[in-house]
Amino acid sequence: MKTTAEQRVNDVRGRIASACTAAGRDPAEITLVGVSKGVPADRVAEILTLGVVDLGENKAQEGAAKAAQIAEWGMDPAPRWHFVGQLQRNKARTVVGFASMVHSVDRLVLVSTLDSVARQQGTTLDVLIQIDLDGQDHPARGGVGPPDLSAVTEAVLASDHLVLCGVMAVAPTEADPRPAFDRLIGYSTSLQRIQPSATVVSAGMSGDLEAAISAGATHVRVGTALFGARKLASEYQT
Ligand SMILES: *Cc1c(COP(=O)(O)O)cnc(C)c1O
Repeated sequence: MKTTAEQRVNDVRGRIASACTAAGRDPAEITLVGVSKGVPADRVAEILTLGVVDLGENKAQEGAAKAAQIAEWGMDPAPRWHFVGQLQRNKARTVVGFASMVHSVDRLVLVSTLDSVARQQGTTLDVLIQIDLDGQDHPARGGVGPPDLSAVTEAVLASDHLVLCGVMAVAPTEADPRPAFDRLIGYSTSLQRIQPSATVVSAGMSGDLEAAISAGATHVRVGTALFGARKLASEYQT
């Protein structure tokens, strides 16, 4: 029997609820971001009607096209778009055009570019600082390492058109994700000492959302478990 979108949404919501029960947390603290990369707009619209209103994309052009298509359909509720992928400066304009939160801010030049694009578009942009948790060199995955973290944080705080909302990370895939998630929570706690409103912790994907919720994540980014397996492994990361 074919698994329906409704079954998958219920399954993911059930996993979030169980993880919250185990951690003594309220499921209302968790935002489910449906990562819809590689998924056509009609199937994304279906997830939206099932109540998943936060949607994430990792490629600028694909995200902008899908957001425009869904906006044209005038869906109610309207989606709130998150950008979760590695972002090149020359795509900043495209991303600010559709996304309300960028999870992947990881270098100074991106901070200044996003700030000036947001100013030009007469808007403010919610941002998360993406942290590199294992110190390995993962150009495809991104993230700022501890040495540059305070400079990037200060630059975001000094930007008039960026709102620093918290931190994001992709756990190392090779190992138990829990120590990495605990380190991320440590960074979040330090950040909240200088910016108390920066409470978002974006961590956890289809395979490790329970560990992320147990550590303290507020936003889980779920693709495969909501939409089924993607066709190409290359769609996993940009
Ligand atoms: C694809 C992607 C996800 C979702 O991954 P799944 O394992 O399919 O749930 C989450 N975060 C980022 C940054 C991604 O690129």
